[in-house]
Amino acid sequence: MPGPVFHPLVLLLSSSRETITTVASQLDYELFNLLITTREEEAVEAIRRGWSDVLVFEPPYPQQHSGCLSTFLQEQGEALPVILITSSQNSFPECPWLRVYEVLHKPINRLELSARLKSVVTLRQLEKQLADQPLAPSRATRVLLVEDSPLQRKILAGYLAGEGIEVITAADGAEALRIAEQQRPDMILLDVVLPGMDGFEVCRHLKENPGLKDTPVVFITSRQGREDKIRGLECGADDFLFKPVDKRELLIRTRSLLRRKQLMDTLVHQASRDPLTGLYNRRQLALDLQRELSRARRYSISLALIMADVDFFKNYNDTNGHLAGDEVLRQLAALLVSNTRDADTVYRYGGEEFIILLPQTEPAGAVTVAEKLRRKVEKHSFPHGEKQPGGRLTISLGVAVYPDHARDAEGLILAADRALYRAKKEGRNRYATATPPG
Ligand code: GH3
Ligand code: MG
Ligand code: MG
Ligand code: MG
Repeated sequence: MPGPVFHPLVLLLSSSRETITTVASQLDYELFNLLITTREEEAVEAIRRGWSDVLVFEPPYPQQHSGCLSTFLQEQGEALPVILITSSQNSFPECPWLRVYEVLHKPINRLELSARLKSVVTLRQLEKQLADQPLAPSRATRVLLVEDSPLQRKILAGYLAGEGIEVITAADGAEALRIAEQQRPDMILLDVVLPGMDGFEVCRHLKENPGLKDTPVVFITSRQGREDKIRGLECGADDFLFKPVDKRELLIRTRSLLRRKQLMDTLVHQASRDPLTGLYNRRQLALDLQRELSRARRYSISLALIMADVDFFKNYNDTNGHLAGDEVLRQLAALLVSNTRDADTVYRYGGEEFIILLPQTEPAGAVTVAEKLRRKVEKHSFPHGEKQPGGRLTISLGVAVYPDHARDAEGLILAADRALYRAKKEGRNRYATATPPG
């Protein structure tokens, strides 16, 4: 389903007629709205009123600016993303008070303008969506640099390493693909002209690989290469850097893309987790179960599934309150994880129901695990556990195994659920094993 239509508002502040005319004529109006101003005071007013999602700013001649924009931006808490227009690499302006997300070179062209704006807007939306939320545990800081010239490689790697970025390098396309597969970089800087396979072909291979397709790719190309840019975008590149590569531009673009990667990683992480317990969620179970079943079928091995459910949990909530109940679920989740092998995965299946997937496990092994978990929970001292029926907080479990009890995902879950129901009926605080079908 398409999302809501969002036309980010681009605020252009420049006193150059040429810049204004170019941006106005090159902007993709199907995607963006444009507000033009030549005066800092007007720009500040527009930002204050919220009429700006991104500021495209061409600094006036050395220190001619009135200073009101810098004062305003320094004071306001929420930093507005800025795309800095620069006329030549030598006069790259120093504006430490701006939050520069991107750099745009004159003469401005449609492709670049679009690429920069899209990149900034995507990053901005991710930042807003994830504001105040914990980021994915892994920080994105590893860059793969693909460049055949040893000198260029050394210079660029030096710039990045100086910023605390971990750099891995490759000298040709085949090596790049191999390293990308093995080391999973967070971003790839890719020279277009390479011996053997060229950058475009490398990029196509990357974008066809499910594990690598979301890794941002930035082409390093000659400024004149308009054709290169079009081809690069067509094969899925995220952005460009021009030779000779400007250090600040390289660092700005790299930082923005690494930040975007980290935010994307966070979203992916969140989509697979249950926020209360931090366990994988039901959605992830569906994916993993299919994958593990195919593996089990292919190699003729078994796959066990244990479903666990807290006994008399409604009673616990009613007696001790929902917050105490939540704490029990968190402690229980940790207990299940710490008492299963690394190869096994624990999921929160529903409210107070958990599923444990145990690859390469036969019924006898699964039953041993179920009984061990039952005992660990019974022995654990949960807050207010003594108020539960029987004086302890306990779980019941149902065990089902592929291929003994079911042959597909739905059947396996159903078999475990039925076994769990039996365990409940037979008195709770126990496990039951599924019965063979038919
Ligand atoms: P049984 O032994 O038969 O499983 O009885 P039960 O009370 O555990 O089962 P029932 O299905 O009647 O109640 C489940 C309870 O789990 C009801 C619901 O309030 C509680 N629950 C579900 N999700 C959460 C949650 O996220 N937090 C808390 N605190 N309670 C939850
Ligand atoms: Mg080259
Ligand atoms: Mg239940
Ligand atoms: Mg229950």
